[in-house]
Amino acid sequence: MKVERLIVGPFEVCCYIAYCEKTKEGVIIDPGSPDPRILDLVKGLGLNIVAILGTHAHPDHIHGVEFLRENLKAPYKVHELDEEFFQIPENFAPFKNWGFPPNPVADSVFKDGDIIKVGNCYLQVIHTPGHTPGSCCFYEKDSGILFTGDTLFVGAVGRADLPGGDYFKMMNSIIEKLLPLPEDTVILPGHDYGPKPTSTLKEEKETNPFIQEFL
Ligand SMILES: [Zn+2]
Ligand SMILES: [Zn+2]
Repeated sequence: MKVERLIVGPFEVCCYIAYCEKTKEGVIIDPGSPDPRILDLVKGLGLNIVAILGTHAHPDHIHGVEFLRENLKAPYKVHELDEEFFQIPENFAPFKNWGFPPNPVADSVFKDGDIIKVGNCYLQVIHTPGHTPGSCCFYEKDSGILFTGDTLFVGAVGRADLPGGDYFKMMNSIIEKLLPLPEDTVILPGHDYGPKPTSTLKEEKETNPFIQEFL
């Protein structure tokens, strides 16, 4: 699986375009803004986008969904818990105050263990609740990459103070569901907060202070 990254929107979200080199089928992960550069990149690579995925339903990660869905005719998918949770006005209130329109409605939802087929590549959904109730990571075993959304960053972890956030759950998700994956797995986080854009699970296990505190 090949991956391209764009930083989009005022919250500087890492939007990833992940695709199968052989079939040119691809997915867009976390389109945080209706940024035409995402479309340009998809067109430039000659990709057929089969799905638009949210690692979670915070609008800074999915604000670009409507624009891309219209242009690419691809379905938007997110975890079932986040789809429900952020349709409830009081849970969405902080984002409304930050100026985001209501979330797009998902075309379908996924759950832990689901497999999203992208050409000859397979993204496995790993439900990692805590940052939000339906936060997920996407794991591609063959290339050893893990899209970690706002659950795990390079040298940091997600915030848990927004509606539905639970710090203890998030740390448990990281320790029980992510760290058991192969230690050379490369993480691709939802924000570029660290000293470098990516690292490995081994590096995070050994140097991430938030993980160290919990182990
Ligand atoms: Zn978030
Ligand atoms: Zn975020």
